[in-house]
Amino acid sequence: MVIEPNAGYAGTGNPIAAKGPIGDFASRAQADQTDAALGKYRTIGGWVEKPQDIQRELEGDVSADVIVVGAGFAGLNAAIALANQGARVVVIEREFAGFGASGRNAGYLAGGSGAKFDLFLDRIGREQTQKVVDYFEAGVSHVESMLEEHGIDCDYIASGLIRAGIHPMHEANIRSNIRTAAEFGIKMQFLDWAAMRARGIPPAFLFGSYINRGGTLDPGKYVMGLRRAALEAGVTLYENTELLWWTAGRVVEARTPRGIARAPFMVFATNAYTPRLGLLENKVVPMRVSAIETEPLCAEQLAQLNWPNREGIVTAHRKMESHRLTARNTLVITTKRVRYAFGSRTPNIPDSAAYLALIRAFRERFPTLKDLAIRACWSGYISVAGDALPVVGATGERQNVFYTTGCSGHGVGAQSLAGRLLAERIRGDEPALLAGLRHQTPSTLPEPLRWCAVNGAMSMLGRMDEKVDRAARAAAACAGRQAFP
Ligand SMILES: Cc1cc2nc3c(=O)[nH]c(=O)nc-3n(C[C@H](O)[C@H](O)[C@H](O)COP(=O)(O)OP(=O)(O)OC[C@H]3O[C@@H](n4cnc5c(N)ncnc54)[C@H](O)[C@@H]3O)c2cc1C
Repeated sequence: MVIEPNAGYAGTGNPIAAKGPIGDFASRAQADQTDAALGKYRTIGGWVEKPQDIQRELEGDVSADVIVVGAGFAGLNAAIALANQGARVVVIEREFAGFGASGRNAGYLAGGSGAKFDLFLDRIGREQTQKVVDYFEAGVSHVESMLEEHGIDCDYIASGLIRAGIHPMHEANIRSNIRTAAEFGIKMQFLDWAAMRARGIPPAFLFGSYINRGGTLDPGKYVMGLRRAALEAGVTLYENTELLWWTAGRVVEARTPRGIARAPFMVFATNAYTPRLGLLENKVVPMRVSAIETEPLCAEQLAQLNWPNREGIVTAHRKMESHRLTARNTLVITTKRVRYAFGSRTPNIPDSAAYLALIRAFRERFPTLKDLAIRACWSGYISVAGDALPVVGATGERQNVFYTTGCSGHGVGAQSLAGRLLAERIRGDEPALLAGLRHQTPSTLPEPLRWCAVNGAMSMLGRMDEKVDRAARAAAACAGRQAFP
């Protein structure tokens, strides 16, 4: 399988921070306006930088028991588990560990509460939806145990998570989500205005559902902790090594610019990048998701905010916003605007429109921090299937090429666990959690219909969210709360 070049892929240096001026601007004036709106942010990166001890590129022929492609949460979890099972493992990573979504996400470790219950029920019925929910739930426990077992300090706070409404229009959805989740054993509690204020949740988040499970972590520290654990377990990690071409068969062959790896098994842990690698092209689509990070809040601002438990917040928008405090006392805000690039490309480029939308959301939800500057903006890719279900399985005549993708932006727990489960499957056992994910993933439309359908749907959801945002702005203005101009 020859891999198509990923046009527009920059792939060098710091993957995380937007190098200003950002985006594709129609004019210098527009660029200046955007820079002004973003403030004097510094392009110092998000969660990970290229490691000092970058591992050498693959050169020549190597053989192993398993080749893992991609060194994010999935690949590194698989590699660690495989090495602990006694396998000789080679990991091939195009850039460096954590370069993909694993080094760019919001750091919410969430379980089944993030499941798209209605979609799942329609598609796979109640019994299997329960299995998928159990899988997401197990992802939380798995990550917690990995942190413990490998002594990974990634500022994890098991604070639980809040899904918040920013306008009464969100209430019905939050309440029905609590009811449906309860049917699958997920206990969430409705927090009214008073309960939210008692927790110190900023007042723009009017009410919400709280789940006392999971929390937030620093994904950069988590993925770098996994990288260290993999190296300690004896995994051979080749960084700066791009998979260019592969063939399945009794022995799987993976060609890179200066070498070849051969093994009886291969794992594609390339998530959103997978369709461009000649696999699952018509099953999953990469979607670009962005994030901004503020400068650190000073002691006075933190005291004023008074958000002691630092619960990670997501909103009940159709395209959610996430707002969290980090251990370095910055605020990280993500999502809001999600886009698909024609041909399932994943160019490593900034997305100024997304950053501006996120900055506006930040200013609206935290009006008292209106002078807090933005220090960094970045974008990454998640992988989404038409039914929003995980896409984990095997392919090839001998079913010895494994993959895990399509986690719809819930990969901190789910992709970590998938890596571990695939390792068990390669050992010869099929864990029940893995078997529970088996289903027929619907095919995507061919291009250009896919581009039109996906981005059309995103625009429609955006318009629905904008209606709620406008109503929230009006309500905030009426209540005399400071609203973003
Ligand atoms: C902005 C943002 C916010 C998010 N927030 C959350 C959140 O709060 N909670 C949550 O659960 N999930 C979140 N996600 C999703 C989560 O980050 C991902 O699901 C998860 O990191 C996927 O891990 P992975 O290991 O499967 O893939 P990745 O981390 O994407 O790793 C894939 C790796 O494959 C490598 N690769 C690609 N092509 C090749 C090639 N040809 N040869 C060799 N290597 C290759 C890449 O360089 C990359 O390192 C978010 C994602 C984004 C972008």
